[in-house]
Formats: sequence, C-alpha cells, structure tokens
Amino acid sequence: RMNLKKITTGSSNLDELLGGGVETKTITEFFGEFGSGKSQISHQLSVNVQLPTDQGGLTEGENIAKAVYIDTEGTFRWERIEQMARCAGLDPELAMENIYYMRAVNSDHQMAVVEELFGLVPKENIRLVVVDSVTSHFRAEYPGRENLAVRQQKLNKHLHQLSRLAEIYNVAVVITNQVMAKPDVFYGDPTQAVGGHVLYHAPGVRVQLKKSRGNKRIARMVDAPHLPEGETVFEITECGIRD
Ligand code: ATP
Repeated sequence: RMNLKKITTGSSNLDELLGGGVETKTITEFFGEFGSGKSQISHQLSVNVQLPTDQGGLTEGENIAKAVYIDTEGTFRWERIEQMARCAGLDPELAMENIYYMRAVNSDHQMAVVEELFGLVPKENIRLVVVDSVTSHFRAEYPGRENLAVRQQKLNKHLHQLSRLAEIYNVAVVITNQVMAKPDVFYGDPTQAVGGHVLYHAPGVRVQLKKSRGNKRIARMVDAPHLPEGETVFEITECGIRD
C-alpha cells in the first residue's frame, strides 16, 4: 500500500468513514437508490482531486491532478462542476478543462473507453477515474435471470480492467451502482442484485448511500477489509458534498 493517496469528498464525516477520503490504487463503489447522491459525490470528487494536497486534493505544485468522468446515462452536468469549483476556490473554467468527459454508449464501448485510458491516464496526470454508473449498460443489455452469468462475466472483466488501471497508475477509481431501495427485493432476487452480487467480488471499498431527511444522506461502509464498519451522515448542498 505504498504511495497511497486520498481525495477528500468535501464532507469530513464521509472522509472519516472512508479512512481519510477516496483512495488511489482502489476501486470505491457508491451504491444506493436513485437520488441517494452517487452522481453528486462523483462530480464533487472530480473537482476535489484538482485541489492542492494540503486541501485534500492530489495537485502537487504546478502538476494539476485531473479526472476522467465516464458517463453512461447522460447525467453529468457541467453547471454543477462550475458551481462546486467556485465554492472550492478553483477557477471554474480551469476546473472544467481538467475533467475529461467521456460518454459510453453501451457496455462494449464502456470497456473500450477504459482500455484507452491506459494511454491517457499517465500522459495527462489523471488521478481519478469515475464510472457513473458502472452497471447500467450491462443491466440493460443482459436483462433477467437467464443472462445473469454472461452479465457477471462481462462486468467482472470490466472491474478487473479498472482495478488494473487503479493499481498501475496509482489512481482512484470511483464507480456508482444503482440498486433498489428495498433490501428484501435486492437480496432475494438475483436478477435485481445486478451490482450487489457481482461487485461483491471486486477489490476495494463499498459504500451504501441512503436518503434521509431533506438533503441529508446516510453513508454506510460495507465489508471493507481494512476499514471499520460504520455509518455517518452528510449533506448535499448548493456548494456540493458537505457535513
Ligand atoms: P441516480 O441513481 O438516479 O443517478 P444518484 O444517486 O446519482 O441517483 P444524485 O444525482 O447524486 O443521485 O443526487 C440527486 C440529489 O442531489 C437531488 O435529489 C438533490 O437532493 C441533490 N442535489 C442535486 N443538485 C443539487 C444542488 N444544486 N443543491 C442541492 N442539492 C442538490
């Protein structure tokens, strides 16, 4: 675990749950129902990675740390980046330039995009790769129980790609995964457990997000090998992720 670095989420509560922030050389999965904050955290990390190291980012001196954002559902918003960057004290125009936006149109394309990153990541000092959401195309293309085996196989291959990328170039990989709110539905029916079962075998950190009152959200650490299990609360504000 040498040279391992951490990126702040913007919430000290969430950072603490994560053992200081989102780690490089690791896949961190945020899973939860719609509106639970997966995309907001992904946007925020894409901004925060650009901060200097003493502010929780990975920029060292003039060497700006950049992000790749792979969007599978068309939910990325530049306006949100602009807003979060301004609040974080970054030049919004520069902050947007330092995020490489990539739209993946299907699962094969998603995997091809990641394969290309093995060239781009070291060349452009990319220290964060987001895949939002990692499961949506796989779920849509291989629906139902009858396709479960193929879907798992393909998704595992994708996750393996991502974990190689994280390891080789010391980058943080953040993936999101939409799952049903009801745990009995989620665990009882394997066709609903698209990410749940498959991603279980991936190395790294899994955080479950749940809606609470208003803009408050609950984050729960799930089966992390080197982190204590626990829960915390954070908030989604105009400025982004905060305590
Ligand atoms: P999905 O699975 O549908 O993509 P998600 O978990 O990615 O959902 P997000 O898009 O991260 O959900 O969260 C959406 C929520 O974030 C909104 O419901 C709202 O509560 C909050 N939010 C988004 N933008 C702002 C903002 N500018 N100010 C305050 N809260 C916001």
